[in-house]
Order: sequence, then C-alpha cells, then structure tokens
Amino acid sequence: FHMPKPVLSVEGLTVSFDGFKAVDDLNLYLDRNEVRVVIGPNGAGKTTVLDLICGKTRATAGKIDFNGKDLTKMAEYDIVRAGVGRKFQNPSIYEALTVFENLEMSYPAGRKVFGALFFKRSAEVIARVEQVAEEIFLKDFLHQTADLLSHGQKQWLEIGMLLMQDPELLMLDEPVAGMSVSERQQTAELLKRISQGRSVLVIEHDMEFVKSIASKVTVLHQGKLLAEGSMDAVQSNPKVIEVYLGH
Ligand code: ADP
Repeated sequence: FHMPKPVLSVEGLTVSFDGFKAVDDLNLYLDRNEVRVVIGPNGAGKTTVLDLICGKTRATAGKIDFNGKDLTKMAEYDIVRAGVGRKFQNPSIYEALTVFENLEMSYPAGRKVFGALFFKRSAEVIARVEQVAEEIFLKDFLHQTADLLSHGQKQWLEIGMLLMQDPELLMLDEPVAGMSVSERQQTAELLKRISQGRSVLVIEHDMEFVKSIASKVTVLHQGKLLAEGSMDAVQSNPKVIEVYLGH
C-alpha cells in the first residue's frame, strides 16, 4: 500500500514583515480531490499563506513544493503556468466583454486568440468555453456582457476564467461573500465538483458553508497552525473555540 504524494507540501513556511511573523513555521499538505478550508480570526495569516503560495509575497523561510517544483523560487507568472490558480475577493473580469469572451481570453492560448477575436475561433476553444460555462452555471449567459451578471454570477465567471487554464490547485478567498443562499449552495456544488482531480484551498468565515464543502479544516492563529482535521474535530477543539469559534 502506498500513500499518494501530496500535490502541495508546505514546510516551515515563514514570512516576517519588519520582524513580525505573519506566517510562522507553517506545515500544510494538500491532496488531490481535496477541498481544504482555512479558517481563523482576522490577522491569523490566512491571506498571506495564499499570497505566499501564488508568489505574490516572498517567504522569509520554508519550502512550498508543488509537484516537485519549489514555488518559493518561481515568478508569479510561472506559478500560474505550473498549474496554480488564485481567485481574489474582487473579481477581475472584463465587464464590457461577454461571458464567452471573458472565458475565451483566459484560455492558455487565448491572449493570442484575443487579438484575432473577430476572425476565427477554433473549435477547441469554443468547446472548452461551452464546457466551462456549463460548469459555472452560465451556459445561458454566454453572449451577455459581464456587467449584466449578478454579483454571484461574476464570482462564478472568475472561477470559470481560472478553470479555462485547468489548474491543478485552485485557491479562493471567501468565494461566497455577498452571495444569496441559493448561489451559496450552487457554489458548494461547484467547488466539490472542481476538486475532482484537483486540490482546492479556500479561505472562508461562513461556518455553514465550510461544513458543506470541507474535506478537512486548517485553523490558523497568529501565523501558526492551531488545529487541523475534520470539521467536527476542529469545532469541538477547545483551543479553536477559545480563539475563534467561541465569540
Ligand atoms: P487574515 O487573512 O487571516 O485576516 P492576513 O494574512 O491578511 O490575515 O494578515 C496577517 C497579518 O500580517 C496581519 O497582522 C497583517 O496586518 C499582516 N500583514 C499582511 N501583509 C502584510 C504586509 N505586506 N506588510 C505588513 N504586514 C502585513
């Protein structure tokens, strides 16, 4: 019997800002097919962990191994190409373009295609756009401009833009903030589906939503790992109740 190697292995990850350790000696292992949710009080270091993995912030110490590549030594652009997608809280979609065009230009060769947008679209790109649009519940909105989408639909569109690049690791920062109840349920369904064959790493505060998606929960406090395990185990952990869930 052989244990699958984690897709992502973070070891001893540390970053200091003027001597303040925002992330402090963190170990984190993510498997394929997993939705990992990171929780913890404000300032715990959650966003900084995602920033370190995607190369936006540089580590002071530690390693981030992603399929054998050390991300701490790579440029942000190369980290994207290696298969890491990051969704920020505010969607960076193009409001004046249609859903189709937004997805199309996110295809790996799409930026080249974009210049020739009004000429010929390859069947391959069209098929991929349609497949992703279906996944993100926007099949009926392909030819609508993005500015007319609801807040939740815009969030899905940005997830779709990341899916166009078929990332192996997808990271999302509070994906359901501002969404309606039904949009939250659809997003839970979407994230679970996306995690098949991939790893998904989510920062989330909404405990009902965390329960509905998490394979495992990681709790951060003052840059350090406070607890890790199933939602039930973490929720009944006295340390977690004290610093986070108790108030
Ligand atoms: P969380 O996402 O858990 O709320 P953050 O990762 O945003 O926490 O922040 C962790 C701590 O690191 C906070 O105290 C924050 O002020 C600090 N911090 C984050 N980024 C920087 C930075 N670029 N410079 C200085 N301090 C930072």
